[in-house]
Amino acid sequence: MEFEELVEKVAKGEIKLHQVEMYTEDKKLATEIRRRALERKLGVKLENIGHYSIDPNQLIGRNIENMIGVVQIPMGVAGPLKINGEYAKGEFYIPLATTEGALVASVNRGCSTLTEAGGVKTTIVDDKMTRAPLLKCPDARRAREVAEWVKNNLDYLQEKAVSRVTRHGKLMGVKPFIVGNNLYLRFEFETGDAMGMNMVTISSEEIMKAIEEHFPDVKYLALSGNLCVDKKPNATNFILGRGKTVIAEAVIPREIVEKKLKTTPELIAEVNYRKNLVGSAQAGSYGFNAHFGNIIGAIFLATGQDEAQITEGSHGITLAEVTPEGDLYVSITMPSLEIGTVGGGTRVPTQREALSIMGVAGGGDPPGSNAKKFAEIVAGAVLAGELSLLAAIAAKHLAKAHKELGR
Ligand code: NAP
Repeated sequence: MEFEELVEKVAKGEIKLHQVEMYTEDKKLATEIRRRALERKLGVKLENIGHYSIDPNQLIGRNIENMIGVVQIPMGVAGPLKINGEYAKGEFYIPLATTEGALVASVNRGCSTLTEAGGVKTTIVDDKMTRAPLLKCPDARRAREVAEWVKNNLDYLQEKAVSRVTRHGKLMGVKPFIVGNNLYLRFEFETGDAMGMNMVTISSEEIMKAIEEHFPDVKYLALSGNLCVDKKPNATNFILGRGKTVIAEAVIPREIVEKKLKTTPELIAEVNYRKNLVGSAQAGSYGFNAHFGNIIGAIFLATGQDEAQITEGSHGITLAEVTPEGDLYVSITMPSLEIGTVGGGTRVPTQREALSIMGVAGGGDPPGSNAKKFAEIVAGAVLAGELSLLAAIAAKHLAKAHKELGR
């Protein structure tokens, strides 16, 4: 069939959007046919959505279905930011994809302040991806027996189930939850440089088969019983962690706070206490912070992370204290930073280039080291964003900055 005829048939609904690839092997052409058909049907022009450099042949079937083009989000860069991490060592530029005016400028100011103060110290305190399948048991006692057996047979399950489907996925632990006759097994995996959701999902299904084989009276009902917890605000990830649990800290000499941030350590500490801690407590928020979501969101979009996991990435606590010397101690603690440098959207060429700006594109040597380095850089950037916004609020500069840069 000719191009025009295909467009017409798709516009009329005679060929469904997802069927276009049955008529052409070239997925770039299929993308154009769908876009033209949509333009025709809706009477709109999708000229900009149709301009791009990435190749749909590499993406359809792995990252996207029914592709019609791309959305372009402006990307800025903040930095350099000095990081004194265990994986990230040196000065880094951070790519931020956003349409919020003033955001990049604000993170940039935080980076410049932190770098002048000697840099950010980052520490990863936990690292695991979780999946929590749901098993229906005859009763709670049986559920407890199964949980005990699973706890005592992790090596067996790794050998029999996980190793068969992944090289980098390693079953490290399990946290069982029992509700009536329901057993939720929150499995914890190491996933190398991958964020790991596909890896742990495929592994968990294999584990379920092994459990059903061992306990014929127990039925595996759902691969996720919602205690993972994926893509939803929740206390479980806040307390137990998911992905990387990472902390970034810095001490900023008083004169740098006054010179660069136009305020004082006392005011920043007070605003943090009354806003991020007391205000968030009153709001019942999981975000005891000013705007983790802004920085996480912009980095996730720039680097091909799963954007729905910005939800849990925005959980966490910002602290600010005046030291006995009169300087400012600031830290951010992120319990649930779910990121990767391989797999998912990280292989899209533009996103991969963004990762390369930080020197973290692809797998690390040893595996896992690139994702950890990336997590430390993200945490540093989040600290920069928190510091800058807290200072702007303390100095009453927030509305002015947004008037100048955001409208
Ligand atoms: P993935 O692309 O499915 O898996 C990573 C792949 O990279 C594996 O094939 C792994 O091989 C390979 N790999 C090569 N070098 C590696 C290294 N150094 N470290 C780790 N792996 C390495 O990615 P994923 O992170 O597991 O899953 C991410 C995707 O899952 C995203 O697209 C996300 O949107 C999606 N997602 C899925 C679910 C779900 O329920 N399935 C939920 C949320 C999100 P080996 O496996 O052999 O080690």
